[in-house]
Amino acid sequence: MKYLAEFRDPERVRHSVAELARVTTQQWTVMEICGGQTHAIVRYGLDQLLPQGIELVHGPGCPVCVTPIEEIDQAIAVALLPGVTLCSFGDMLRVPGTDTDLLQARAQGADVRVVYSPLDAVELALAEPERDVVFFAVGFETTTPASAAAALRAKQLGIANFSLLSSHVRVPPAMSAILSSDECRVDGFLAAGHVCSVMGSAEYEPLCDRYQVPIVITGFEPLDILQGLLACVKQLEARAATGAAVHVENQYTRAVRESGNVHAQALVNEVFERAPRNWRGLGSIEQSGFELREGYAQLDARRRLQLEMPSLDPQGKAAASPCIAGRVLRGLEKPADCPCFARECTPETPLGAPMVSSEGACAAYFQHRGRSSQEAAR
Ligand code: SF4
Repeated sequence: MKYLAEFRDPERVRHSVAELARVTTQQWTVMEICGGQTHAIVRYGLDQLLPQGIELVHGPGCPVCVTPIEEIDQAIAVALLPGVTLCSFGDMLRVPGTDTDLLQARAQGADVRVVYSPLDAVELALAEPERDVVFFAVGFETTTPASAAAALRAKQLGIANFSLLSSHVRVPPAMSAILSSDECRVDGFLAAGHVCSVMGSAEYEPLCDRYQVPIVITGFEPLDILQGLLACVKQLEARAATGAAVHVENQYTRAVRESGNVHAQALVNEVFERAPRNWRGLGSIEQSGFELREGYAQLDARRRLQLEMPSLDPQGKAAASPCIAGRVLRGLEKPADCPCFARECTPETPLGAPMVSSEGACAAYFQHRGRSSQEAAR
Protein backbone atom coordinates (compact mmCIF):
# COMPACT_ATOMS: atom_id res chain seq x y z
CA MET A 1 0.00 0.00 0.00
CA LYS A 2 2.91 2.32 0.59
CA TYR A 3 3.08 3.60 -2.96
CA LEU A 4 -0.66 3.93 -3.35
CA ALA A 5 -1.78 5.52 -0.09
CA GLU A 6 0.85 8.24 0.03
CA PHE A 7 0.30 9.21 -3.62
CA ARG A 8 -3.46 9.54 -3.05
CA ASP A 9 -3.24 11.43 0.22
CA PRO A 10 -5.91 14.20 0.09
CA GLU A 11 -3.91 16.58 2.26
CA ARG A 12 -0.85 16.33 0.02
CA VAL A 13 -3.06 16.71 -3.05
CA ARG A 14 -4.54 19.93 -1.60
CA HIS A 15 -1.05 21.21 -0.83
CA SER A 16 0.14 20.57 -4.41
CA VAL A 17 -2.91 22.28 -5.89
CA ALA A 18 -2.33 25.32 -3.66
CA GLU A 19 1.34 25.40 -4.67
CA LEU A 20 0.36 25.26 -8.35
CA ALA A 21 -1.99 28.21 -7.85
CA ARG A 22 0.78 30.12 -6.07
CA VAL A 23 3.42 29.69 -8.81
CA THR A 24 1.16 30.13 -11.87
CA THR A 25 1.18 33.65 -13.31
CA GLN A 26 0.00 33.02 -16.86
CA GLN A 27 -1.77 30.54 -19.15
CA TRP A 28 0.04 27.24 -19.73
CA THR A 29 -1.06 24.18 -21.69
CA VAL A 30 0.50 20.89 -20.67
CA MET A 31 0.01 17.59 -22.48
CA GLU A 32 0.05 14.28 -20.65
CA ILE A 33 1.31 11.65 -23.05
CA CYS A 34 -0.06 8.51 -21.49
CA GLY A 35 -3.63 7.26 -21.65
CA GLY A 36 -3.20 5.86 -18.13
CA GLN A 37 -2.48 9.36 -16.90
CA THR A 38 -5.51 10.68 -18.79
CA HIS A 39 -7.70 8.15 -17.01
CA ALA A 40 -6.26 9.14 -13.61
CA ILE A 41 -6.79 12.84 -14.37
CA VAL A 42 -10.41 12.35 -15.38
CA ARG A 43 -11.20 9.72 -12.74
CA TYR A 44 -9.96 11.88 -9.86
CA GLY A 45 -11.13 15.16 -11.44
CA LEU A 46 -7.60 16.57 -11.22
CA ASP A 47 -8.15 18.89 -14.18
CA GLN A 48 -11.04 20.48 -12.30
CA LEU A 49 -8.84 21.25 -9.28
CA LEU A 50 -6.28 23.21 -11.28
CA PRO A 51 -5.89 26.99 -11.22
CA GLN A 52 -7.58 28.70 -14.17
CA GLY A 53 -4.32 29.36 -15.97
CA ILE A 54 -3.41 25.72 -16.43
CA GLU A 55 -4.99 23.47 -19.02
CA LEU A 56 -4.26 19.79 -19.44
CA VAL A 57 -4.63 18.33 -22.93
CA HIS A 58 -4.50 14.66 -23.79
CA GLY A 59 -1.91 13.25 -26.15
CA PRO A 60 -1.32 10.23 -28.40
CA GLY A 61 -0.58 7.94 -25.47
CA CYS A 62 -2.88 5.04 -26.21
CA PRO A 63 -1.38 2.39 -28.51
CA VAL A 64 -4.75 1.13 -29.70
CA CYS A 65 -5.84 4.69 -30.55
CA VAL A 66 -2.77 5.65 -32.58
CA THR A 67 -2.78 2.52 -34.78
CA PRO A 68 -3.92 3.87 -38.15
CA ILE A 69 -7.01 2.59 -39.87
CA GLU A 70 -5.10 1.02 -42.78
CA GLU A 71 -3.17 -1.19 -40.34
CA ILE A 72 -6.47 -2.29 -38.77
CA ASP A 73 -7.68 -3.07 -42.32
CA GLN A 74 -4.50 -5.04 -42.93
CA ALA A 75 -4.95 -7.08 -39.74
CA ILE A 76 -8.54 -7.84 -40.79
CA ALA A 77 -7.33 -8.94 -44.24
CA VAL A 78 -4.76 -11.23 -42.59
CA ALA A 79 -7.38 -12.70 -40.27
CA LEU A 80 -9.58 -13.56 -43.26
CA LEU A 81 -6.81 -15.52 -45.02
CA PRO A 82 -7.41 -19.29 -45.01
CA GLY A 83 -5.34 -21.20 -42.46
CA VAL A 84 -4.38 -18.07 -40.51
CA THR A 85 -5.05 -17.42 -36.81
CA LEU A 86 -4.73 -13.75 -35.89
CA CYS A 87 -4.00 -12.98 -32.23
CA SER A 88 -3.99 -9.64 -30.48
CA PHE A 89 -4.95 -7.85 -27.28
CA GLY A 90 -8.68 -7.64 -26.58
CA ASP A 91 -9.09 -3.91 -27.26
CA MET A 92 -7.82 -4.30 -30.83
CA LEU A 93 -10.75 -6.50 -31.81
CA ARG A 94 -13.30 -3.69 -31.58
CA VAL A 95 -11.35 -0.88 -33.24
CA PRO A 96 -13.20 0.08 -36.42
CA GLY A 97 -11.39 -0.40 -39.72
CA THR A 98 -12.71 1.13 -42.91
CA ASP A 99 -15.65 -1.25 -43.25
CA THR A 100 -15.54 -3.64 -40.33
CA ASP A 101 -13.52 -4.71 -37.27
CA LEU A 102 -11.75 -7.87 -36.14
CA LEU A 103 -14.71 -8.95 -34.03
CA GLN A 104 -16.99 -8.85 -37.06
CA ALA A 105 -14.32 -10.67 -39.09
CA ARG A 106 -14.46 -13.39 -36.44
CA ALA A 107 -18.24 -13.52 -36.81
CA GLN A 108 -17.65 -14.05 -40.55
CA GLY A 109 -15.51 -17.10 -39.77
CA ALA A 110 -12.03 -15.66 -39.32
CA ASP A 111 -9.96 -17.27 -36.55
CA VAL A 112 -9.30 -14.25 -34.31
CA ARG A 113 -8.16 -14.86 -30.76
CA VAL A 114 -7.40 -12.68 -27.74
CA VAL A 115 -4.06 -13.23 -26.01
CA TYR A 116 -2.60 -11.55 -22.94
CA SER A 117 1.01 -11.62 -24.10
CA PRO A 118 2.93 -12.20 -27.35
CA LEU A 119 4.45 -15.33 -25.78
CA ASP A 120 0.91 -16.77 -25.55
CA ALA A 121 0.74 -16.47 -29.34
CA VAL A 122 4.05 -18.37 -29.66
CA GLU A 123 2.64 -21.11 -27.44
CA LEU A 124 -0.46 -21.24 -29.63
CA ALA A 125 1.72 -21.67 -32.72
CA LEU A 126 3.49 -24.57 -30.99
CA ALA A 127 0.20 -26.15 -29.97
CA GLU A 128 -1.45 -25.78 -33.40
CA PRO A 129 1.27 -26.38 -36.01
CA GLU A 130 -1.30 -26.64 -38.81
CA ARG A 131 -2.31 -22.96 -38.31
CA ASP A 132 -0.28 -19.92 -39.41
CA VAL A 133 -0.33 -17.82 -36.21
CA VAL A 134 0.11 -14.06 -36.63
CA PHE A 135 0.42 -11.76 -33.61
CA PHE A 136 -0.85 -8.21 -34.31
CA ALA A 137 1.68 -6.35 -32.16
CA VAL A 138 0.80 -2.84 -31.00
CA GLY A 139 2.21 -0.66 -28.27
CA PHE A 140 4.97 1.74 -27.30
CA GLU A 141 8.44 1.13 -25.85
CA THR A 142 6.73 -0.51 -22.87
CA THR A 143 5.32 -3.51 -24.73
CA THR A 144 7.87 -3.81 -27.54
CA PRO A 145 10.29 -5.86 -25.37
CA ALA A 146 7.62 -8.56 -24.91
CA SER A 147 7.17 -8.79 -28.70
CA ALA A 148 10.95 -8.93 -29.09
CA ALA A 149 11.08 -11.77 -26.53
CA ALA A 150 8.40 -13.65 -28.49
CA ALA A 151 10.30 -13.21 -31.77
CA LEU A 152 13.50 -14.38 -30.13
CA ARG A 153 11.81 -17.44 -28.65
CA ALA A 154 10.14 -18.35 -31.94
CA LYS A 155 13.47 -18.03 -33.73
CA GLN A 156 15.35 -20.07 -31.12
CA LEU A 157 12.74 -22.83 -31.26
CA GLY A 158 12.64 -22.70 -35.06
CA ILE A 159 8.87 -22.25 -35.10
CA ALA A 160 7.84 -22.00 -38.73
CA ASN A 161 4.17 -21.04 -38.25
CA PHE A 162 4.53 -17.85 -36.16
CA SER A 163 4.96 -14.26 -37.29
CA LEU A 164 4.45 -10.69 -36.10
CA LEU A 165 2.40 -7.95 -37.73
CA SER A 166 4.33 -5.15 -36.06
CA SER A 167 2.66 -1.83 -35.39
CA HIS A 168 4.92 -0.91 -32.49
CA VAL A 169 5.68 2.79 -32.14
CA ARG A 170 8.13 5.09 -30.36
CA VAL A 171 7.00 8.06 -28.30
CA PRO A 172 9.70 10.76 -28.78
CA PRO A 173 9.20 11.13 -32.58
CA ALA A 174 5.45 11.63 -31.99
CA MET A 175 6.18 14.37 -29.47
CA SER A 176 8.47 15.99 -32.01
CA ALA A 177 5.71 15.82 -34.65
CA ILE A 178 3.25 17.51 -32.27
CA LEU A 179 5.74 20.24 -31.38
CA SER A 180 6.62 20.99 -34.99
CA SER A 181 2.98 21.35 -36.07
CA ASP A 182 1.67 24.85 -36.79
CA GLU A 183 -1.36 24.04 -34.66
CA CYS A 184 0.67 23.03 -31.61
CA ARG A 185 -0.52 24.58 -28.36
CA VAL A 186 1.60 22.48 -25.99
CA ASP A 187 3.93 24.35 -23.61
CA GLY A 188 5.19 21.33 -21.72
CA PHE A 189 4.83 17.56 -21.40
CA LEU A 190 4.19 15.02 -18.70
CA ALA A 191 6.02 11.99 -20.09
CA ALA A 192 4.77 8.47 -19.38
CA GLY A 193 6.59 6.88 -16.45
CA HIS A 194 6.28 3.28 -17.63
CA VAL A 195 7.66 4.10 -21.10
CA CYS A 196 10.63 5.82 -19.45
CA SER A 197 11.18 2.91 -17.08
CA VAL A 198 12.16 1.00 -20.24
CA MET A 199 13.75 3.66 -22.46
CA GLY A 200 15.23 5.97 -19.80
CA SER A 201 15.25 9.72 -20.21
CA ALA A 202 18.14 10.49 -22.57
CA GLU A 203 16.03 10.46 -25.75
CA TYR A 204 13.93 13.34 -24.41
CA GLU A 205 16.81 15.72 -23.94
CA PRO A 206 17.21 16.71 -27.63
CA LEU A 207 13.46 17.48 -27.69
CA CYS A 208 13.77 19.80 -24.68
CA ASP A 209 16.73 21.57 -26.24
CA ARG A 210 15.28 21.90 -29.72
CA TYR A 211 11.78 23.09 -28.80
CA GLN A 212 12.51 24.58 -25.38
CA VAL A 213 9.66 22.68 -23.74
CA PRO A 214 10.03 21.12 -20.30
CA ILE A 215 9.41 17.38 -20.13
CA VAL A 216 8.66 15.88 -16.73
CA ILE A 217 8.62 12.09 -16.41
CA THR A 218 5.55 11.42 -14.32
CA GLY A 219 3.77 8.52 -12.61
CA PHE A 220 0.10 7.63 -12.53
CA GLU A 221 -1.31 8.42 -9.11
CA PRO A 222 -3.01 11.75 -8.36
CA LEU A 223 -0.05 13.16 -6.48
CA ASP A 224 2.37 11.97 -9.18
CA ILE A 225 0.46 13.93 -11.77
CA LEU A 226 0.14 17.08 -9.67
CA GLN A 227 3.82 16.97 -8.71
CA GLY A 228 4.78 16.45 -12.36
CA LEU A 229 2.59 19.36 -13.37
CA LEU A 230 4.05 21.56 -10.64
CA ALA A 231 7.60 20.78 -11.79
CA CYS A 232 6.60 21.53 -15.39
CA VAL A 233 4.90 24.84 -14.54
CA LYS A 234 7.82 25.95 -12.36
CA GLN A 235 10.15 25.44 -15.33
CA LEU A 236 7.80 27.34 -17.64
CA GLU A 237 7.50 30.23 -15.19
CA ALA A 238 11.29 30.35 -14.74
CA ARG A 239 11.78 30.35 -18.51
CA ALA A 240 9.30 33.23 -18.86
CA ALA A 241 10.79 35.24 -15.99
CA THR A 242 14.52 34.78 -16.54
CA GLY A 243 14.95 32.94 -19.84
CA ALA A 244 16.17 29.88 -17.92
CA ALA A 245 16.68 26.81 -20.09
CA VAL A 246 14.21 23.97 -19.62
CA HIS A 247 15.20 20.36 -19.03
CA VAL A 248 14.04 16.79 -18.53
CA GLU A 249 12.96 16.19 -14.95
CA ASN A 250 12.06 12.91 -13.28
CA GLN A 251 9.13 12.95 -10.86
CA TYR A 252 8.77 9.15 -11.03
CA THR A 253 12.08 8.32 -9.39
CA ARG A 254 10.66 5.25 -7.68
CA ALA A 255 10.44 3.49 -11.07
CA VAL A 256 12.56 5.37 -13.64
CA ARG A 257 16.32 5.44 -13.93
CA GLU A 258 18.13 7.70 -16.39
CA SER A 259 19.47 4.70 -18.30
CA GLY A 260 16.09 2.87 -18.29
CA ASN A 261 16.01 -0.92 -18.52
CA VAL A 262 19.14 -1.75 -20.50
CA HIS A 263 18.25 -5.45 -20.80
CA ALA A 264 14.89 -4.64 -22.38
CA GLN A 265 16.56 -2.11 -24.69
CA ALA A 266 19.12 -4.71 -25.79
CA LEU A 267 16.35 -7.21 -26.52
CA VAL A 268 14.45 -4.68 -28.63
CA ASN A 269 17.62 -3.65 -30.49
CA GLU A 270 18.43 -7.27 -31.25
CA VAL A 271 15.06 -7.87 -32.91
CA PHE A 272 13.79 -4.50 -34.18
CA GLU A 273 15.09 -1.50 -36.06
CA ARG A 274 13.60 1.97 -36.34
CA ALA A 275 11.42 2.74 -39.36
CA PRO A 276 8.90 5.33 -40.53
CA ARG A 277 5.40 4.68 -39.20
CA ASN A 278 1.99 6.12 -39.91
CA TRP A 279 0.07 7.31 -36.83
CA ARG A 280 -3.63 7.96 -36.55
CA GLY A 281 -4.05 11.72 -36.37
CA LEU A 282 -0.36 12.50 -36.83
CA GLY A 283 0.45 11.02 -40.23
CA SER A 284 3.76 9.44 -41.19
CA ILE A 285 6.63 10.12 -38.78
CA GLU A 286 10.25 9.22 -39.50
CA GLN A 287 11.94 6.77 -37.13
CA SER A 288 8.74 6.39 -35.10
CA GLY A 289 8.12 2.67 -35.64
CA PHE A 290 9.77 -0.65 -34.90
CA GLU A 291 10.22 -3.07 -37.82
CA LEU A 292 11.77 -6.53 -37.55
CA ARG A 293 15.41 -6.64 -38.56
CA GLU A 294 16.61 -8.58 -41.59
CA GLY A 295 17.72 -11.46 -39.37
CA TYR A 296 14.08 -11.89 -38.28
CA ALA A 297 12.52 -11.49 -41.74
CA GLN A 298 10.95 -14.95 -41.56
CA LEU A 299 8.94 -13.70 -38.57
CA ASP A 300 7.67 -10.59 -40.36
CA ALA A 301 4.06 -11.25 -41.37
CA ARG A 302 4.12 -8.51 -44.02
CA ARG A 303 7.00 -10.18 -45.83
CA ARG A 304 5.92 -13.75 -45.16
CA LEU A 305 2.38 -13.25 -46.39
CA GLN A 306 3.48 -10.70 -49.03
CA LEU A 307 1.06 -8.11 -47.70
CA GLU A 308 0.58 -4.75 -49.31
CA MET A 309 -0.61 -1.94 -47.08
CA PRO A 310 -4.25 -1.21 -47.98
CA SER A 311 -4.53 2.29 -49.41
CA LEU A 312 -6.95 4.76 -47.95
CA ASP A 313 -9.71 6.18 -50.07
CA PRO A 314 -9.62 9.90 -49.25
CA GLN A 315 -13.28 10.22 -50.25
CA GLY A 316 -14.28 6.99 -48.58
CA LYS A 317 -15.99 5.98 -45.39
CA ALA A 318 -13.04 6.71 -43.13
CA ALA A 319 -12.72 10.24 -44.47
CA ALA A 320 -16.46 10.78 -44.07
CA SER A 321 -16.48 9.62 -40.44
CA PRO A 322 -17.47 12.31 -37.94
CA CYS A 323 -14.88 10.97 -35.49
CA ILE A 324 -12.37 13.66 -34.47
CA ALA A 325 -9.94 11.17 -32.89
CA GLY A 326 -7.00 12.71 -34.75
CA ARG A 327 -7.63 16.11 -33.17
CA VAL A 328 -8.18 14.54 -29.74
CA LEU A 329 -4.85 12.68 -30.02
CA ARG A 330 -3.03 15.91 -30.87
CA GLY A 331 -4.51 17.74 -27.89
CA LEU A 332 -6.44 20.13 -30.15
CA GLU A 333 -9.87 19.05 -28.90
CA LYS A 334 -11.25 17.11 -25.97
CA PRO A 335 -13.67 14.19 -26.14
CA ALA A 336 -16.62 16.26 -25.02
CA ASP A 337 -15.98 18.63 -27.96
CA CYS A 338 -16.89 15.80 -30.33
CA PRO A 339 -20.54 16.08 -31.45
CA CYS A 340 -20.83 12.28 -31.34
CA PHE A 341 -19.56 11.90 -27.76
CA ALA A 342 -22.03 9.97 -25.58
CA ARG A 343 -24.59 10.16 -28.40
CA GLU A 344 -23.79 8.12 -31.49
CA CYS A 345 -20.46 7.14 -29.92
CA THR A 346 -20.43 5.16 -26.67
CA PRO A 347 -18.35 2.16 -25.51
CA GLU A 348 -21.15 -0.10 -26.82
CA THR A 349 -21.32 1.70 -30.19
CA PRO A 350 -17.82 3.15 -30.66
CA LEU A 351 -17.12 5.24 -33.76
CA GLY A 352 -13.42 5.59 -33.03
CA ALA A 353 -10.51 3.94 -31.26
CA PRO A 354 -10.38 6.42 -28.30
CA MET A 355 -13.83 5.16 -27.27
CA VAL A 356 -12.90 1.49 -27.76
CA SER A 357 -9.62 1.35 -25.93
CA SER A 358 -9.41 0.95 -22.16
CA GLU A 359 -6.71 3.66 -22.33
CA GLY A 360 -8.58 5.94 -24.73
CA ALA A 361 -9.38 9.53 -23.78
CA CYS A 362 -12.99 9.30 -24.98
CA ALA A 363 -13.54 6.14 -22.93
CA ALA A 364 -12.07 7.92 -19.89
CA TYR A 365 -14.50 10.83 -20.22
CA PHE A 366 -17.42 8.50 -20.84
CA GLN A 367 -16.56 6.23 -17.93
CA HIS A 368 -15.92 8.95 -15.38
CA ARG A 369 -18.05 11.86 -16.55
CA GLY A 370 -20.52 10.33 -18.96
CA ARG A 371 -23.11 12.59 -20.43
CA SER A 372 -22.33 15.40 -18.01
CA SER A 373 -19.21 16.40 -19.97
CA GLN A 374 -21.19 16.41 -23.18
CA GLU A 375 -23.83 18.60 -21.61
CA ALA A 376 -21.24 20.86 -20.00
CA ALA A 377 -19.69 21.41 -23.42
CA ARG A 378 -22.95 22.74 -24.82
S1 SF4 B 1 -16.28 10.47 -29.02
FE1 SF4 B 1 -16.16 8.78 -30.50
S2 SF4 B 1 -16.45 9.77 -32.48
FE2 SF4 B 1 -15.86 11.37 -31.03
S3 SF4 B 1 -13.63 11.50 -31.14
FE3 SF4 B 1 -14.10 10.07 -29.49
S4 SF4 B 1 -14.06 8.07 -30.50
FE4 SF4 B 1 -14.23 9.58 -32.14
